[in-house]
Amino acid sequence: MFATLSDRLADTFKNLRGKGRLSEADIDATAREIRIALLEADVALPVVKEFVGAVKERARSEEVSGALNPAQQIIKIVHEELVTILGGETRRLRYAKSGPTVIMLAGLQGAGKTTLAAKLALWLKEQDKTPMLVAADLQRPNAVQQLQVNGERVGVPVFAPEPGNAQGIEHGGDPVDVARRSIEEARRKLHDVVIIDTAGRLGVDETLMQQAADIRDAVQPDEVLFVVDAMIGQDAVTTARAFLDGVGYDGVVLTKLDGDARGGAALSIRSLTGKPVMFASSGEKMTDFDLFHPDRMASRILD
Ligand code: GDP
Repeated sequence: MFATLSDRLADTFKNLRGKGRLSEADIDATAREIRIALLEADVALPVVKEFVGAVKERARSEEVSGALNPAQQIIKIVHEELVTILGGETRRLRYAKSGPTVIMLAGLQGAGKTTLAAKLALWLKEQDKTPMLVAADLQRPNAVQQLQVNGERVGVPVFAPEPGNAQGIEHGGDPVDVARRSIEEARRKLHDVVIIDTAGRLGVDETLMQQAADIRDAVQPDEVLFVVDAMIGQDAVTTARAFLDGVGYDGVVLTKLDGDARGGAALSIRSLTGKPVMFASSGEKMTDFDLFHPDRMASRILD
């Protein structure tokens, strides 16, 4: 994960080793290299500019603290700035004060939403919650069945329209109705978290946005999470902005981080959407999933 950026930054810092103090030229050269490293990692240009500007400014103006040499001081500044662009504090789920907490997932088809829904359900179970999954993706053939299979894998019940029934997939289905009924079911069966999987399309389109917005209006989720494949790099940011306008969301889930050698999406999305990355999914296993911790991620990049 983010191997190229890590290597690039490590090389940059190597050049500073052994220097007693940093000249203006050293700072400029370092800033230039950090800029190239971030651009190669596919970080969006405005984010790169802001990042490099902040590092340069701090490197010039901050007193080097006694215990650190100049190279360590720069690493400390870069670490702190990475934490900032990754979102600062870890953003945890907000649970409803009463009744079931409703989490709605939105995103493009193939983003890893269905897989993520089950991973999140398992993670919640491990936090002593009693989640229920809801198959409100009635668009993609097999989406309901796939969620049922995944639900079974993690031992979490799935609320789905019965085949053949008026709300069923064969009839075009009404995902808004399924979502609405799922909340009643959760109340009846005392589930404390409801995770609603919604339909994605291959590209952003208005019908998709409207459907997601209708589900949102019908169930008033406590958290809307936008699920996006980190491997698509800066396209993730474009999609994230489209969903922000079309549906709106509270946080982002990055999937397939295990296959993302560059890190552009993770490093750009917070600054460009103003929404925190809340979870990261990083593999095919149901347990390859956790809260997204900006400080740990920054440490990994600089390891
Ligand atoms: P959906 O269309 O958004 O519901 O996407 P799926 O959940 O069906 O996932 C699409 C593909 O991505 C499947 O083959 C998943 O196994 C795979 N996938 C999902 N999450 C991850 C992940 O974190 N890492 C990797 N490597 N593959 C993933």
